Amino acid sequence: MESGLLAPEIALVARSKALEARIRRLDPAHPLNRCVNSPSPKARLIYRSYRALSPSEEIDPIQDAPWDRGFNRQARLIEVAGPDPGGDKSSFKAKFLEFLAVVPSTDLVVFTDGSRLDDKSTGGGVCLTRGGAILNTKIFSFGRVLEIYDAEARAALHGLELALDSPFWSSARKCWICLDNLEATLQLTYRSCGTSQETFNKVNELAQLYPGKIQTRWCPSHIGILGNEIADKVVGRVVRLPSPEPSPLLCTATLKREVKETGIALAKKLWGTTLPALYKDLGLYTWSSKPKSLQLPREVLDRLIAARSGHGDFTAYHLRYFHFDSLLELGNCKCKKAKTQFHLLFCKLANNKDPKLLAKAKKNPQLLFGHHCEKLFSLVYFKTEFYTKICL
Ligand SMILES: [Zn+2]
Repeated sequence: MESGLLAPEIALVARSKALEARIRRLDPAHPLNRCVNSPSPKARLIYRSYRALSPSEEIDPIQDAPWDRGFNRQARLIEVAGPDPGGDKSSFKAKFLEFLAVVPSTDLVVFTDGSRLDDKSTGGGVCLTRGGAILNTKIFSFGRVLEIYDAEARAALHGLELALDSPFWSSARKCWICLDNLEATLQLTYRSCGTSQETFNKVNELAQLYPGKIQTRWCPSHIGILGNEIADKVVGRVVRLPSPEPSPLLCTATLKREVKETGIALAKKLWGTTLPALYKDLGLYTWSSKPKSLQLPREVLDRLIAARSGHGDFTAYHLRYFHFDSLLELGNCKCKKAKTQFHLLFCKLANNKDPKLLAKAKKNPQLLFGHHCEKLFSLVYFKTEFYTKICL
């Protein structure tokens, strides 16, 4: 638990799942893909495990050669956001307002926004405008199958479809799709070789169908741009709705995250069943892959783990394992009391150094040895010098 490492059997399962998720991102003709789709007796295990993965989108990572994609990041950045104005958010706002001011009143401007809640459900909001007037707003729920980047792209596609259905489409010279996610804006009109390939390819097809008409623009979020604020506001209402999307397929990015979380979920489950009684008393119920205690200096962490686990220079520990030589050699604390796991709390010499510091922890040892105890434990360690000068 203190190391944040997965148990070996769980780590193996996690690696195996990660490999299977990677196979979903290989081209259909790849030998591994053929192996999991038409299994030989030798590949039966990986076939079964692969089939147990959540259904996800099928992508073709080699549909386009990189040199055929025609994507130049620097040029594209200037295209969607203009030259960097520097400064704070207000300068980006001013630049975007300048852009809006020169957009002809007959052009369509679609503001779109994707959002994700803590429960991983996503949604999209769209606000279609023309000449500063709001023509339509729409909300979409995508369920738990997308990441925020994918939700932004999907919302942009729906926004574009809304503009296509508008009676003003034919009279518009251009249709500007304004997203507040810079990466999604950069990639939007290009074919994708990764996550949400179908969505990006659809936008690309429409852009090819109307050459030069569909343009993308990055709109910085939360700077008071009306259309963006409305899209942001409506999406906040939709993410809790059930998903109307017909396909429950996960996007590639969500599958990758889900697989990554498999190991952590299994580790938490295992910890819940193997939790030592003393850890329960200290409230250490939750397993974490990145325990904060690992940030403590090595000598402090050593004492904290010894106090929690009971494996250290304690009288009971030496007696349990018949370390009679150690008992004679190391002896008791300088206050003449036996060394116990939580003796720090009750040692007179340590308390004399700063009586107030340990007062609360005496009533509730979780404060000094439980979750989020790192700051207090480190303070006590250095202030009382208990472990370095008193109880050696
Ligand atoms: Zn003592």
